[in-house]
Amino acid sequence: QDSQVSDSDTITDGHRWPRQNSLSMREWDIPYDELKIGEPIGMGRFGTVHRGYWHGDVAIKLIEMDDLDDEKTLDHFRNEVSTFRKTRHENLVLFMGACMKPPKLAVVTSLSKGMTLYTHIHLRKDKFNMNRTTMVAQQISQGMGYLHAKGIVHKDLKSKNIFLENGKVVITDFGLFSVTKLCGGNKKSEALGIPPGWLCYLSPEIMRSLKAHQSYDDELPFSNASDVYAFGTVWYELLCGEWPFKGQPPEAIIWQVGKGMKQPLANLQASRDVKDILMLCWSYRPGDRPDFIRLLNILDKLPKKRLARSPSHPIHLSRSAES
Ligand code: ATP
Repeated sequence: QDSQVSDSDTITDGHRWPRQNSLSMREWDIPYDELKIGEPIGMGRFGTVHRGYWHGDVAIKLIEMDDLDDEKTLDHFRNEVSTFRKTRHENLVLFMGACMKPPKLAVVTSLSKGMTLYTHIHLRKDKFNMNRTTMVAQQISQGMGYLHAKGIVHKDLKSKNIFLENGKVVITDFGLFSVTKLCGGNKKSEALGIPPGWLCYLSPEIMRSLKAHQSYDDELPFSNASDVYAFGTVWYELLCGEWPFKGQPPEAIIWQVGKGMKQPLANLQASRDVKDILMLCWSYRPGDRPDFIRLLNILDKLPKKRLARSPSHPIHLSRSAES
């Protein structure tokens, strides 16, 4: 009887394939010619992100690799794509497929229509009230908790990689960090191989292992705990509207964080519980940082402010992140 298909099999074009890595990868292989590549949305470290069309609107990351003959580099890319395709969560960008045939390498994801937290906080100067801040943090923690449960370290969690779409958080760019580093380093100018706006997300153990001309992330001790440190920085941005160590030169930030110093919170108008989250996430020792499950627990317990709505005091309709 051939009608029974075991869990370990995949059906493609009516054939039954054993679930081998190379074969199941085909499901995610998008022929480059099928993509309609539109205008560029932005420049990242490893190439350009374009708006595009493939069975609907998509975001296409065109990967520019310097050494396309290098099998190791390609294997790295394939591995990272295979990590990406394991993810299915509301708060993570939808991975749709990838073009895997050199020299046309691309990653195709759903197109986020909202703005990034970076745009909200640093460009538009939108203010997030405490309820909103907590809701955003809870959704980030849910997405990150899922990634960690799948054994995936984000390695590049930052406000630029978090979209807000009608109140829903969508995290992007997870697991692709090594590829970015394999592409001849950064295309943007920076000291010590450090892209601008990246440093304040790096945990002390990573700061301490940074070397001049760092080209591979293999040597950097990224971990679930370093993702939690980065989350702490996003929590700070939401609360303060700016990055920690604002205006300080990279060397000064590296020195302070490497020594275990933290951004002072004296001027931060927030309750003890809210500041405690920062201190926990920014703990010097990775083992002292909470995981996302514990963070969700802590966030759930934060007191929720009830919005007082009275006809004589209508809600102020200023430009805010709620719009
Ligand atoms: P880095 O490479 O240092 O992480 P980055 O985050 O700016 O920098 P990318 O992640 O490559 O670089 O993104 C480049 C631009 O494309 C950003 O402006 C980002 O907001 C946008 N972008 C990325 N993914 C999507 C997406 N799925 N939908 C819409 N816009 C996206």
